[in-house]
Amino acid sequence: MSDRELVVLGTASQAPTRTRNHNGYLLRWDAEGLLFDPGEGTQRQMLFAGVTATQVNRICITHFHGDHCLGLPGVLQRMSLDQVPHVVEACYPAEDQEVFWRLRHTALFRDVLNLRERPVAGEGTVAEEPAFRLEARRLSHSVPTIGYRLAEPDGRRMLPDRLAALGIAGPDVGRLQREGRLTAPDGQPVTLAEVSVPRPGQRFAFIMDTGLCEGAFALADRADMVVCESTFAQAEAGLARQYGHLTAGQAGRIAAEAGARLLVLTHFSQRYQSDDGRRLAGEAAEAFGGEVVLARDLDRIPVPSRRPGAGG
Ligand SMILES: [Zn+2]
Repeated sequence: MSDRELVVLGTASQAPTRTRNHNGYLLRWDAEGLLFDPGEGTQRQMLFAGVTATQVNRICITHFHGDHCLGLPGVLQRMSLDQVPHVVEACYPAEDQEVFWRLRHTALFRDVLNLRERPVAGEGTVAEEPAFRLEARRLSHSVPTIGYRLAEPDGRRMLPDRLAALGIAGPDVGRLQREGRLTAPDGQPVTLAEVSVPRPGQRFAFIMDTGLCEGAFALADRADMVVCESTFAQAEAGLARQYGHLTAGQAGRIAAEAGARLLVLTHFSQRYQSDDGRRLAGEAAEAFGGEVVLARDLDRIPVPSRRPGAGG
């Protein structure tokens, strides 16, 4: 099991189908669990996917159309029932704070969950953790909508050959990483740059309901994994425009222009059956040279390993 992976809880837009739950996603990022857009039925899908309430410590909502939030009451109640011991942070567009409150207090239960709300006004950094920075950007939909981007800080990859040649080993390696320089056993000063190469951090983008817009491209910029709505096929491009959605081809274009690596398509209209999948993936692939994955409920998709750094 990968330490960084997307657990797909559902892939349907607007209305679920026999094979697709309302959309919902858990991003596992080391010890963090970020639950994105819990649509109706998410609590049960978590059970099928082997995801526990305790694994979630952050909830990110893009907007308050039902397929992106109707699962919230059940998930929050379950987290309280299971006495999740940690603080849970919830991000959502600030304009619709009242909708969040209504969802949070939909049913009566003894609420012992330590929930910290982080309504997002505007855009920018939402959270800063050692393992990542979480950012939000505005998207173009019929109601206030934000997309999310998670970026690991860039680091450096140590070069074992050069370390060995200089006789640097054991705790000295960690010290060099922390302090940036040290004196090698032969008395020679050594800097971190001499024995390492840049290592780009991993990046993940979550782009839900939107038409083509600047925010979508910014979220996907050089991302290793882009999870993107592709509600419609090219034949329904007019509907996509009318309702503020993307076609699979447009999702491919975003991934291509942003220099992304893996494109995960999801949030499909109920009009498409499972055998339409190849068509949607094909339309995205035509615009995007990288790998395209058509998400299915309960899939686990590993975040691709880091891009090789310069010289590595
Ligand atoms: Zn929507």
